[in-house]
Amino acid sequence: LVVLGIETSCDDTAAAVVRADGTVLGDSVVSQHEIHQQWGGVVPNLAKEAHAAAIDGVVEKALQKAEMNPEHVDAVAVTTGPGLEICLRIGFNAAKEFCKAHRKPFVAVNHLEGHCVLARMLHRDLEYPFLVVLVSGGHCQILVAEGEGIYALLGGTLDDAIGEAYDKTARLLGLQVGGGGGPAVEQLALNGDENAYDLPMPMRDKKNCNLSYAGLKNAVRLIAETDAGRRSEDIAASFQRVAIDHLIQKLRTAMKWCEARQPGRVRSMVVCGGVAANQRLRSRLTDVCSDFEWKLVVPPPRLCTDNGAMIAWAGIERIQRGILDNPQLLEVVSRWPLSTRLVFD
Ligand code: ATP
Ligand code: FE
Repeated sequence: LVVLGIETSCDDTAAAVVRADGTVLGDSVVSQHEIHQQWGGVVPNLAKEAHAAAIDGVVEKALQKAEMNPEHVDAVAVTTGPGLEICLRIGFNAAKEFCKAHRKPFVAVNHLEGHCVLARMLHRDLEYPFLVVLVSGGHCQILVAEGEGIYALLGGTLDDAIGEAYDKTARLLGLQVGGGGGPAVEQLALNGDENAYDLPMPMRDKKNCNLSYAGLKNAVRLIAETDAGRRSEDIAASFQRVAIDHLIQKLRTAMKWCEARQPGRVRSMVVCGGVAANQRLRSRLTDVCSDFEWKLVVPPPRLCTDNGAMIAWAGIERIQRGILDNPQLLEVVSRWPLSTRLVFD
């Protein structure tokens, strides 16, 4: 089984050809970071146009790298949500046309599920249930993956996502963010004093697994705007310390909850979404997982941000469960949560 995966939900046009044994045969990504950089956020119309301009080339390149032509593909998987509708539609239409032209089956994929199940492509022995930490530009959630396609929510952000907070901090500090705000802040923080600013730790006294990044973002804004003698390195480092400490604290709560509910049932943590590329976060996660004797699964940075392989793989898993979709009966959706079933008590 060989599946072509297509992703256009946000600001990366991506495609990949993946085989059912987890081998990525070919992949291609065109990023729009530079287009949106000057506007301080993703501009939907510009994103749509850039996807439209890039999509054919990206699919072709992925096939070319896989040394395949369309006939060799067994099915096409495409992100149909969540994300920007006008962007999703570019990938959706490309997938529809491909399937029609080459008479291939079609499967619709949830972008967030793609981020989550990629870990199963990389670690074929990863067993359910496992804890999922989804940390990206648009999402920030702690879930338990109970089985294929079954997720239970432990907590999530009440306002901004952690990636969004990184992006905002990068902008407030006036960083050049050709490769995205997160990496720029992480890089700058390396040379800063993380204790220089006493930023507020969000929701310290709350006993649940919910998160919040709006307050931290505003605290950074206040310093950036008022502290004339500020060192950007110190702000970046202080921000990163609190942003990550907050997440780790809530993760510990989630892990304790799992252990209290049924000791030993959940034994692994999968971290996914763009922020999982952060080295500081990765090392902190290694420590908590070793405290709990859990296995930590984090994809390599390149596969943490949006890519075609995660969509192709999620498609492979769906096809293997006997699921196919009829593109004529589908539309793209901007909101599509993995789970609204809150199980934390
Ligand atoms: P979603 O997946 O929720 O729809 P998205 O697709 O925009 O959102 P991703 O592409 O998964 O998000 O991740 C991009 C986010 O990850 C950005 O907010 C970016 O700043 C953040 N990010 C990427 N690398 C790092 C890093 N090294 N440190 C911190 N944040 C990072
Ligand atoms: Fe994403």
